[in-house]
Formats: sequence, C-alpha cells, structure tokens
Amino acid sequence: MTMARKPLLEIVLANPRGFCAGVERAIKTVEHALAEFGAPVYVRHEIVHNARVCDDLRAKGAVFVEEVEEVPPNSVVIFSAHGVPRRVENAAEAAAHHVIDATCPLVSRVHVGGRRYVMDGRRVILIGHRGHPEVEGTLGQIETPPDRPVLVVASASDVEALDLQPDEPVSYVTQTTLSVSDTRGIIDAIRRRWPDAEGPDTRDICYATQNRQQAVAEIAGLVDAVVVVGARNSSNSNRLVEIALAAGVPARLVPSVADLERDFVEGVRRLGISAGASAPAVLVDEVMARLADWFDLSVTEVMGKREDVSFRLPRGLGNTLGRVARRA
Ligand code: SF4
Repeated sequence: MTMARKPLLEIVLANPRGFCAGVERAIKTVEHALAEFGAPVYVRHEIVHNARVCDDLRAKGAVFVEEVEEVPPNSVVIFSAHGVPRRVENAAEAAAHHVIDATCPLVSRVHVGGRRYVMDGRRVILIGHRGHPEVEGTLGQIETPPDRPVLVVASASDVEALDLQPDEPVSYVTQTTLSVSDTRGIIDAIRRRWPDAEGPDTRDICYATQNRQQAVAEIAGLVDAVVVVGARNSSNSNRLVEIALAAGVPARLVPSVADLERDFVEGVRRLGISAGASAPAVLVDEVMARLADWFDLSVTEVMGKREDVSFRLPRGLGNTLGRVARRA
C-alpha cells in the first residue's frame, strides 16, 4: 500500500520575531521574585499579553490581579511591562506592598518625555489606543493641571476633531507598539494643525515593534499568506497582521495552535510566519508541528535585523530578603 503524499508547503520565517527585551525582562522578573520571595507573588494585569506565558507563571505561584486592591497587605506586587498609572503606585505604597516594577524601560521613557513636555507648559497629545493598559498607564503617569488633560488620538480624524487653538504649544508622545506608517500619518496631521509641534517623530515606537513590522513587510512580498502567532489583546501582534493585510496578503492572528485553521493554509504555496513580541517560541514550534502534520514542509528564514538589546532586572529584586514585612 502506498501512503498518500502530503502537499508541499514552503515556510518563510520572519526575522526577528517573538520575544523582545522588555518581555524577557518582565518574565524573568516574576521568576526571580518567585525564587526569592516564594509564592504567591501578585502581578497586576497580565505580565505580558500572552496566555501561555501567564499560565506557566501561574503554575509556579504567580497570582494575576487587575487591581492592587485585590491583593492582601504586605505582599510582593509586580507591575506588568505595560506600566501603571501613578494612582496604582500610590495604592501599592498605601497597602505596604513590596513593589517590583517590570514596566518596560522603553515605556518609562515615554512617561519621562510626556512629563517633560508638561513641565515646558505644552499641551500633550498621546497617540495610542484608549483602553490599552500601556495608554492608561501613560495617561496616569503624565500629571497635568485638571483643565489641561493629555489628549488621546488614534487617527488623523481624531486630530482634526481636537478642540485646541492654533497657537497652543503642542507636543505628542506615542504608544510603543503602534504601526509606524499609521503613526506617521497621525503625526503629519498634528503638524498640519500645529507646525511647531514637538515630539519624537516615530521614535517612541520601540525597536522591537519596528523591527518585527519591517520583517513582516519583507516576507509579505515573498509569500501567499501570513500567520502571526500572538494573543488577541497583543497590540504589536495585531499591527503585524495589519501590515501583511496592507501589503495585499491574506493574514491571520493565531493565538495558539488550536486556532490554526487548515482552510486558511490550504492551497497556499508559500506561507510567512511571524510572532508578536509577547509570543513565546514554543507557540511557533507548535504551529510548525501542526503544519508538518498536514504538509511536507520546507523552511527558510529571512535574514533580519540583529537585536542585541537587553535590560537589567528592576529594583526590588536581590538583597531584599528579610526586608519584606510578610517574610519578617
Ligand atoms: Fe518594551 Fe517594546 Fe517589548 Fe513593549 S514591545 S515590552 S515597549 S521592548
């Protein structure tokens, strides 16, 4: 008896893909805290937007909460990579928690930039998606007079609708995980209304987001369809799907192997694969294994931009044993 041959599928892997330095640091922070203080350690919000990462840490003793008010007093509390508003820092201090802040340094840099613009007497516009924890954290970190709140815009038409005078000194900052090309359009809209607007151009969009977008744009020109491994609530993963779609290539976000639909890859000759900055490599491996069940695979990986960014672990880890009240 002869076995039916599987159809051929050529895989083109985007490079770089998957974990960024901020995500690696945030995950290590929880692991180190568990090793140092023992379970439970409380993590405000998903440490990074990925269910597999959170499930693994939960199994080791991390407890995820949405607000610090849910945490018993004198606990170890970790803030997620997305950052938190000042009110959360204050609530944690009031409850005498031992706080370890895993906010990505590149998010903190945006906070610092926004505060500097406020100190200079400028009105701050935040380009980003309202409701995303990073945007809520940034809004709560840039303190302003009550009558001059930070304004959030997500499109050029939002900029047109802003109720600000043409002579208002305006500055802008951006969420770190936006589409570079969309953001450029929004910045152009700001500069049309306020030619002297100060801001970082698209440099607030972090290196990892930019590199992964560039890599997806590159493979989109080589393939018939693109799969992006990443969570539905992961901003940078969603942007990768949009970039492939904008290049005219069918694209799907695949949070886990269970979400990979055979219909989507049926008839595809070359499939591009990338992964968002919070998606662990094991998820890509599982998707590849499933594809290998269905197809005869050949795999190529594009040369991408080399990344050598790493961040030190945050303060609050190391040499702190015995200083946490609940362990005393
Ligand atoms: Fe930091 Fe960028 Fe990673 Fe977000 S995506 S955690 S800003 S490096």
